[in-house]
Amino acid sequence: MSPLTHLLGSWLIASATTNNPRDRKLVTLAGVLPDADGLGVVADVVGSWFSGKECTFYYYQQYHHLLLHGWPGAIVISVLLTFFGKQRWRVLGLCLLLFHLHLLCDLIGSRGPELGDFWPICYSEPLFRHPIWFWKHQWKLDGWQNQSIFIVLLLASLWLAVKRGYSFVEVISRRLDSAFVKVLQKWHRHLLGSEGKRVP
Ligand SMILES: [Zn+2]
Repeated sequence: MSPLTHLLGSWLIASATTNNPRDRKLVTLAGVLPDADGLGVVADVVGSWFSGKECTFYYYQQYHHLLLHGWPGAIVISVLLTFFGKQRWRVLGLCLLLFHLHLLCDLIGSRGPELGDFWPICYSEPLFRHPIWFWKHQWKLDGWQNQSIFIVLLLASLWLAVKRGYSFVEVISRRLDSAFVKVLQKWHRHLLGSEGKRVP
């Protein structure tokens, strides 16, 4: 699934299972960081831009879903994040859970454009080649299933943000989040106000 879908789903779960902003952010990050192994795409695009050659997405193809989509990545990322947590045992457990939920979501919804273009989970990479898992009914990365899940998660996240006064943007910046939530709450009040006027 897309990193944004992972972010929304992880933040919603973290919001329901942690009791402070720092742990919430750490647990959310555990559900997003596996896709950091796709950052080779930046090197690919920049390299192609400077060299003038066609972009082959070499680093992206070589490392995405291989460096951080297995148990070694789960342990490294979860332990690192736990180090910064307040309720550390809870953070560790939730980080491992969210990391594996990311892998499960990728397993069911990350197929390429062609029918047989499966994207497997190589659970022991980058240490061992096996086991390799794939699901033969894996749906397309941009399929309607992923789009529907994204819309539901987005609506739920916006609703929770208005209600609680913080949003998934807090993962990037608390200040940006505060501005974002103020706008959301203003729209929400405006929406309620205009609806109220229509009711006699
Ligand atoms: Zn992923």
